[in-house]
Amino acid sequence: MSEVRVRFAPSPTGYLHIGGVRTALYSWLWARQHEGTFILRVEDTDRERSTEESTKAVLESMRWLGLDWDEGPGVGGDHGPYIQSERLDIYAEYAGKLIESGHAYRCYATKEEIAAAREAHRKTGTKDGFRFESNWRDRSDAPEDPNARYVIRFRAPHEGTTSWLDEVKGKIDILNSTQQDFILLRPDGMPLYNFGCVIDDLTMGVTLVGRGDDHMINTAPQILLYEALGARVPTFAHMPMVLAPNGEKLSKRHAAVGVLEYRDMGYLPDAILNYLARLGWSHGDQEIFTREELIEKFSWDHVGSTAGRYDAKKFLHVQAEHLRMLSDEDIARWTVPFLARIGIEVQDDDPVLLKTIPYVRPRAETFIDVAEAVDYFFRDVEFDAKGKRKFLVPDNAQALVRLADVVETVEPFTKEPLDATVKAWLEENEIPMKVVAQPARVAMTGRTRSPGLFEVMEVLGKEKTLARLRTGAEIAAATETPSA
Ligand code: GLU
Repeated sequence: MSEVRVRFAPSPTGYLHIGGVRTALYSWLWARQHEGTFILRVEDTDRERSTEESTKAVLESMRWLGLDWDEGPGVGGDHGPYIQSERLDIYAEYAGKLIESGHAYRCYATKEEIAAAREAHRKTGTKDGFRFESNWRDRSDAPEDPNARYVIRFRAPHEGTTSWLDEVKGKIDILNSTQQDFILLRPDGMPLYNFGCVIDDLTMGVTLVGRGDDHMINTAPQILLYEALGARVPTFAHMPMVLAPNGEKLSKRHAAVGVLEYRDMGYLPDAILNYLARLGWSHGDQEIFTREELIEKFSWDHVGSTAGRYDAKKFLHVQAEHLRMLSDEDIARWTVPFLARIGIEVQDDDPVLLKTIPYVRPRAETFIDVAEAVDYFFRDVEFDAKGKRKFLVPDNAQALVRLADVVETVEPFTKEPLDATVKAWLEENEIPMKVVAQPARVAMTGRTRSPGLFEVMEVLGKEKTLARLRTGAEIAAATETPSA
């Protein structure tokens, strides 16, 4: 294992958003490329919004995507626990150190005092944001009440500049005069985000912090904390957001954003990773990458500093390309759960399923498409109303009966001899192919689009082919022609 230690630190307040996946992905790629360590840490100190269910959904999403972690929940590691609410003693210890060294102080200001200060600020009419200036910053006394509640605040420097060289954004300078004495610990011992994050990144030995650029505002306060603790500051890489096509923040209103929704839509993890990797990073003109290629080729240098816009069509295209890269066996394996969803129970190695894959592969984009394209091989035909009305009509009944009689003689029942025999029969009787093709297709598949007729016949087998052609003929003969 190399020195590289990176982490993904989701807050379990909902499903795993594809923007979050992209953040996780870049760090994961970086870790895998350097044979480093990828840590998963759950930031659940917002007790009101964090849920157990969401933690589970996040872990399930990460596992499904194959973004495996070397340290974290369910895996363990030397730097645990990996859930913030279980690390309160560690935060207390570090807050104590900061108080001792004079970088933090207990602030006993009451809610009322803070509210009054906020109100006074509002009345000044200034446009600057409110920053509470606690008088406990410079006091050495303590309140009379030994049980008085307090928060621990950082004694932020007012002079100087905090700078860092961001892997994505370049050099950033922030004036310390813009900082306030932010809260490190609440009265109940829960850390605020900046403090919990720094203590965890520090004690977990994180070398590079990769996260969304919505966190840029937190980086200077975090660096000030590292400095106050005399600790090495990690490298930062702030990735631009994933935006909606119209430039707004990507949300449910614009697209499916929960990663498991894509699983349910029949997408592949590798396709999702490929699409998200390219949304903000490039490697020449290459669009399609395997997971291994992403690991090999990813670099922070080529992460753009402006936001990528979500494009559903492009995403689907990447998905289709990945589907087509799979072996027949793999497509079958991925399709089985989608067949089960429409009531068709088959095994991964079902010979009929395996035979159909090469025929549906060129047109399918998702595994839902594959399942829907092959369903009639496994269950009775469900007729497409329009196709039935147009092609299963009395005029076509005879052709279907005769076609059935012709194919009945073919042995072996495979596409080449079927093709040759049927074509010879059509030629001999001067029947154009189109007279039989669509009625036969509708009779056998229920729809007007399918793989080639003889391919369908071969996969269905003789018995089912004959039965469907003859049933089709009966339906056609019994259909009443609309009176003129
Ligand atoms: N819990 C934070 C979030 O979900 C993590 C930010 C970070 O990576 O530092 O946005």
